[in-house]
Amino acid sequence: MIVSTARSAQLFDRAAAVIPGGVNSPVRAFRSVGGTPRFIANAAGCRLTDVDGNSYVDLICSWGPMILGHAHPAVVEAVSRAAASGLSFGAPTEAEIELAEAIIGRVDPVQQVRLVNSGTEATMSAVRLARGCTGRSKVIKFAGCYHGHVDALLADAGSGVATLGLPTSPGVTGAAAGETVVLPYNDLDAVAAAFAAAPDQIAGVITEAAPGNMGVVPPAPGFNAGLARITHEYGALLIVDEVMTGFRVGPAGWYGIDGVAGDLYTFGKVMSGGLPAAAFGGRSDLMEYLAPAGPVYQAGTLSGNPVAVAAGLATLQAADPAVYTTLDDNARRLGRMLDEALTAAGVSHRVQFAGNMVSVFFSETPVTDYAAAKAAETWRYPAFFHALLDRGVYPPPSAYEAWFVSTALDDDAFDTIAAALPAAARAAAAATPEGTSS
Ligand SMILES: *Cc1c(COP(=O)(O)O)cnc(C)c1O
Repeated sequence: MIVSTARSAQLFDRAAAVIPGGVNSPVRAFRSVGGTPRFIANAAGCRLTDVDGNSYVDLICSWGPMILGHAHPAVVEAVSRAAASGLSFGAPTEAEIELAEAIIGRVDPVQQVRLVNSGTEATMSAVRLARGCTGRSKVIKFAGCYHGHVDALLADAGSGVATLGLPTSPGVTGAAAGETVVLPYNDLDAVAAAFAAAPDQIAGVITEAAPGNMGVVPPAPGFNAGLARITHEYGALLIVDEVMTGFRVGPAGWYGIDGVAGDLYTFGKVMSGGLPAAAFGGRSDLMEYLAPAGPVYQAGTLSGNPVAVAAGLATLQAADPAVYTTLDDNARRLGRMLDEALTAAGVSHRVQFAGNMVSVFFSETPVTDYAAAKAAETWRYPAFFHALLDRGVYPPPSAYEAWFVSTALDDDAFDTIAAALPAAARAAAAATPEGTSS
């Protein structure tokens, strides 16, 4: 059980004076669940330790990247070795080629990649490239999908935008938003109709390969294939955002699961092992439009940073088939436990999976799009979350996020989760739309 959060509370006050909302990324602030965000002192394997000395089984994994658990020895060693050899050169290195080759070797439709520093940068650049290649301006995205905080892609976005209940963001101009067509997820008819209405204006469709930013909402069978078909019929490009799924749900990401080839891909999270790096890539004939080979400009002072590249390479090298089997097993085990506890407490729910990404919706029916995700009884989530957190289990502080497992989850960790779940499920059952009843 958690003893004290005094030091975290103190730090949060101090942070709020110098950092907006006290955090550097919104969902970390616990706004939608209430309470004191935990300041982390250190982490190892599947456990986080906060500044008050409390220990938590980590079911966030830095929002996806840490498939091997925290401070994995091979990754730490690679990072230490790279750091000792110089932190940044602004000139090319051999390791960047190795990381590019590792990505290309795993995802067939990707023939070239460009390294960047965040998933946001990857999607922003991929959209620019799609516009540059096609000479068209409009982009289709789906409600509830999150592609980073790119101006044109914030409309009806998932993740923190969903958590805070924002339709879009002030500061995004009408011109930027006007180039974005937002459609309901899993609705191919809507996609066909949008293309029919503007056949030569749409540069591309961007989609999460399997959405995890409105909670986990897998694509319906044939949805991704349908997107590829319609997009290509109209001479547009399919941008598959695998920032979350890439190298997490399998060695080749979601592409390895559904085999639908996109034209451009974005990666992040796992491929940089917890350091800031990301990538976008695709067919060579498209990637060759990028400067200096072509006219579409894109650059970065720290892109291909040697320390981040070392972390990514070490992570991908360690991620053998056994790692993915363990991740899948751990996700199924967690999902089963969630399901059993909520069933025992009589709470309507759906545990949904996309590969080894899991999430729970307080809903009687399967959630297939953002409207259904929002219609769920999300007001049960704060009570559920805090009951788990109080008992040493750290799920995402939002009803609209995926839960992430690592290979480091051991029987002890599952025991902690099993011990925490019955009380958490009862707290979810006792919650009311106005707040938790005591
Ligand atoms: C996390 C995420 C992003 C944004 O990546 P950042 O590194 O946070 O900028 C983009 N797309 C998807 C699908 C993501 O899950």
